Amino acid sequence: KQTVTVIGGGLAGTEAAWQIARAGIPVIFYEMRPNRFSGAHHSEYLAELVCSNSFGAMASDRAAGLLHEELRQLGSIVIAKADEHQVPAGGALAVDRGVFSQDLTSTLANHPLIDLRREELRAIPEGIVVLATGPLTSPDLAADLHRFTGMEYLSFFDAASPIIVGESINHDIAFMASRYDKGEAAYLNCPMNKEQYLRFWQELRTAEQVELKDFERENAKFFEACLPIEEQALRGEDTMRYGPLKPVGLTPPSPTGWGTWENPPVPTSDGDVKKERPYAVVQLRQEDKAGKLWNMVGFQTNLRWGEQKRVFRMIPGLENAEFVRLGVMHRNTFINAPQLMQTTLQFKERPRLLAAGQLIGTEGYTAASAGGWLAGTNAARIALGKEAVSLPGTTMMGALFEFISSASPKHFQPMPPNFGIIPDLGKKIKNKRERYGKYRDRSLADLAAWKLTV
Ligand code: FAD
Repeated sequence: KQTVTVIGGGLAGTEAAWQIARAGIPVIFYEMRPNRFSGAHHSEYLAELVCSNSFGAMASDRAAGLLHEELRQLGSIVIAKADEHQVPAGGALAVDRGVFSQDLTSTLANHPLIDLRREELRAIPEGIVVLATGPLTSPDLAADLHRFTGMEYLSFFDAASPIIVGESINHDIAFMASRYDKGEAAYLNCPMNKEQYLRFWQELRTAEQVELKDFERENAKFFEACLPIEEQALRGEDTMRYGPLKPVGLTPPSPTGWGTWENPPVPTSDGDVKKERPYAVVQLRQEDKAGKLWNMVGFQTNLRWGEQKRVFRMIPGLENAEFVRLGVMHRNTFINAPQLMQTTLQFKERPRLLAAGQLIGTEGYTAASAGGWLAGTNAARIALGKEAVSLPGTTMMGALFEFISSASPKHFQPMPPNFGIIPDLGKKIKNKRERYGKYRDRSLADLAAWKLTV
């Protein structure tokens, strides 16, 4: 029988190793702890939760909750153990982290087909391999991955701007245009007058920031090329206006259409409205193929998440913005999945090499477990001589892997599960909870039908 190698005993690797063994295939499972620690991990156990003990909202009409439900249907070991060791946490699936990780460690270590080796792998081995070494992949293995993927396709830190659901943007204010009308209108632009800009600038200067961890402070030099927006605000009143908020070449179609001008422009005698230049403009770039998600250009930030929502909603057009991801700046090793990966989580260039978890640009514990499920399932299928499979695009898992393998490679940033990446229902449902409930019903029905075909 062929053997599969899994590297990294985090959320993704643990799920992958279990699914491979469950399919009857022997697994050699490498985890470098306790011989070597990442800087964020502290225990010797598999599937250590490095920070919060929560897998996100439980309700199945929430993005995380739907992912839990899909994973339950698919027989995920991580979610089964999370359910078993749940602690009360309002509406969230939170666990007793110690018992959860210890139980997973002994369950996997005692499986007759799993050979758990406490070793750091420094190079990608031959054969069928699942890479799941996470955001803090050890430096030697990262160097080998660098060689394999090519220089520009591996990132060592994440300086990500917030991403907003298109439907929550006020399109009476935000307008589509490219600077100097060059090419097709490609950006959504949120114009500000002077008063709005100065108010925003003041708030940004004093908003609360996240403290960098020690190992991140050491890496602070990575961030220099990519100045946080609040740092730009601190450098001077006009720094942002000469940077990402540059207004030149961006004229709203009708100035009266976009909010509170101090001196509203007056129509000329022939009834035409004089076009006015905004004082500053925040640009949003399309994030996904369908244009449902929008990225705030140049808004990499280290502000606390609550502060980001408060301050960024001061931008005209973003008063009711719904954020699917807030900005972060931290150590994060991840590959350029749209360039390198298929929806099956196989590498395009080397289909016997698969990857999952934070390393492929999915964000969070549950998404890592979901990737582990698919990469493990497909690694076992390859070992059994079967075709690798993709999940239905209408499920949260399928949509997430579709996103990471088809987003724009140029601006690729990690993505958490969210409803913005799910294909439309085909009919408009205004009420958000009702709409998400319908997404859930469709996903679970499609997943049940899919299971019968594989
Ligand atoms: P990990 O869980 O990190 O697992 C990777 C494993 O690979 C580790 O056990 C590591 O020791 C091992 N490894 C690395 N290199 C090698 C090697 N060469 N050989 C052998 N083993 C190796 N997500 C959340 O959902 N909630 C949070 O609160 C949260 N907080 C975070 C805080 C920090 C500081 C960081 C860095 C990330 C945080 N994340 C959080 C994101 C989190 O990393 C992922 O959600 C999740 O841990 C990813 O799972 P993974 O399996 O991809 O990686």
